[in-house]
Amino acid sequence: MFSKYHLSENAKIITNSVPGKESLKLLEIQEKVESNNISYPRGIPIAFDLAKGAIVQDVDGNQYIDFLSGCGVLNLGHNNPDIIKDLKKFQGKITQAVDFPTKTKMDFIKNLLDILPESLIGKYKVNFGGPTGSDAVEAALKLARINTKRHTVIAFQGGYHGMTMGALSVTSKLSHREKTPPLIPGVHFMPFCNLYRCPFGKNKKSCKEECLRYFEYVLEDPSSGIDKPCAIIIEPVQGEGGTCIPKKGWLEKITNIARKNNALVIFDEIQVGFYRTGKLFSFEHTHAIPDIIIMSKGIGGIGFPLSLIIYNKALDKWDAGTHIGTFRGNQLGMAAGISAMKFVKNMELELHVEKLGKEMLSSLKSLKNNSKYIGDVRGIGMMLGIEYVKDKKSKDPFPKMAQNVRKMCYENGLLVEIGGHYNNVIRFLPPLIITPKIANNGLAIFKRANSLAEKDF
Ligand code: PMP
Repeated sequence: MFSKYHLSENAKIITNSVPGKESLKLLEIQEKVESNNISYPRGIPIAFDLAKGAIVQDVDGNQYIDFLSGCGVLNLGHNNPDIIKDLKKFQGKITQAVDFPTKTKMDFIKNLLDILPESLIGKYKVNFGGPTGSDAVEAALKLARINTKRHTVIAFQGGYHGMTMGALSVTSKLSHREKTPPLIPGVHFMPFCNLYRCPFGKNKKSCKEECLRYFEYVLEDPSSGIDKPCAIIIEPVQGEGGTCIPKKGWLEKITNIARKNNALVIFDEIQVGFYRTGKLFSFEHTHAIPDIIIMSKGIGGIGFPLSLIIYNKALDKWDAGTHIGTFRGNQLGMAAGISAMKFVKNMELELHVEKLGKEMLSSLKSLKNNSKYIGDVRGIGMMLGIEYVKDKKSKDPFPKMAQNVRKMCYENGLLVEIGGHYNNVIRFLPPLIITPKIANNGLAIFKRANSLAEKDF
């Protein structure tokens, strides 16, 4: 169904080795002129030339299947021609309008509010911020402080919310946090429902919701030492934390406990939103309802930077200019977003994501049974994670194996990312328009990479 949206259907490595000569040249220049802060090319040394759908081509002409999607942004594929066509119609009008109203912007907001889950319709408003997800996280935290007159925040272990100071303060990974202390005070991290690595030593069967009881205790015990929070901020499915999907009912219970204690509920849907899990928002797989939703990445259509929060109108208590930013008026992003919403509806993308995502997960599950080092595979929609361990019983993390697999994938034409508490989880975030054939070709490369990497240990 989506074949015409892709450059080809499989990877093709035409140089003797990767990176090829031309990629190497650009990578060398990059090392000289660009910041030491660059990160992705250190794990995947490649220089891109062009891309379409789920296939990217490097400057040497090698083609790769892209399970990275610009960090979970290109949900509708690289250079989606339907969106580009719509953008051409739009061209010539205004491109940047700060926060003045334009027809494009009002259409974008209307379209977005119209596709919200039914119980939210008519009750929520939109706020644009700067172009990055982190900026919208800052806006959400400010709105929560303003409304509750509290400042403490509860975030979750394994959570990722971005790199600006506020967003970093609610991000749990120490390697991110420890470089630039101090962060903003008053943030406390609670256990996320991680069924593979439960901090209480429980598993799916023995779980008695210890983390929920602990969370409730922290919020309600007068001697917990933790001030009442203005909000909890949570990814309903954790992305960078290693594709962690809480058990059924958990999110609802966390949300209820927060509400009981007058804390607002912020769902970070930056990575898991815009149909990544098969629905507009990942929380739609549950009965939990947020007060504030944070959105970015996929909503910009074909990778235009756009971020926003959607929040309950009752919270609209901030004064004009409380969270401003020059790039709130990215009309191209909004026009692409309108087109993207139309595309999803016309193509019945939700069904495709759910069906193909399940098939990919089941293929990975069978691989796990025959693999020495895959301790767990998890997935929802087209967000999949493969966790590497040295030993399936001890679950001792095996980040070196994940790195090797990523390298072998790259050498054989598949781009994947690594995440997880211990950087030991291979993560798949393919464009949602991937065809079954490309998905299978990608999985075949992954399986080969897995067995090649296994032989190294
Ligand atoms: N929240 C989540 C869940 C994310 O995945 C990310 C980006 N990976 C962010 C926030 C930060 O977004 P940005 O990088 O655009 O600032």
